Amino acid sequence: MFNIIKKLMMARQINLEEGYVTILGQPVVIQPLTTWITLQRKLEKTNSIDVIYTTAKEAATSWIMGLKKSNNMTTSQLVEWGVNTMSFAGWGRTEIVNYDQQNKRAILHIRDSTFAKAYGRSEDPVDHIKRGFLAGSGCVYFNDNVDCVETKCISCGAGVCEFVVKRTSEFEDSALVKKQLGLKKK
Ligand SMILES: [Zn+2]
Repeated sequence: MFNIIKKLMMARQINLEEGYVTILGQPVVIQPLTTWITLQRKLEKTNSIDVIYTTAKEAATSWIMGLKKSNNMTTSQLVEWGVNTMSFAGWGRTEIVNYDQQNKRAILHIRDSTFAKAYGRSEDPVDHIKRGFLAGSGCVYFNDNVDCVETKCISCGAGVCEFVVKRTSEFEDSALVKKQLGLKKK
């Protein structure tokens, strides 16, 4: 992971000015993790998790589109940078388990999800921000509208968080899918 940062610094792709930070030409801010946990807990009270998911999805689409335009990256380079960004931004070690460009599907694992660890135990998967990031970046990689469901989460006792990305219509109509994408699909 330090290699990535080293590479970015050497290529002058991380810019740290007082009050203004950019990575690969795009502005970023560093927030305490508790910001997102507090926001999610507030939204859970009103059944509004969709706000987090769709916001992260739109932000990721914009981030990956920005990389594509300003750095002339190929799709495989974009996928690599998308995954690397998730990891070095501190969300947990992100790994691609399966990637199928033709059928527009992917399965990813996030090990030691920092968000889930800080959130604590839960009956349902909690990594809605990451679902949104993966869905939004998937929309650019696959040039289609895809969504993401977290099928396993360490907050529910799993050993790893698992995310499935595919076209919205291809998700089965299960209770889990309804909970995570239900608000969007109605
Ligand atoms: Zn999780």
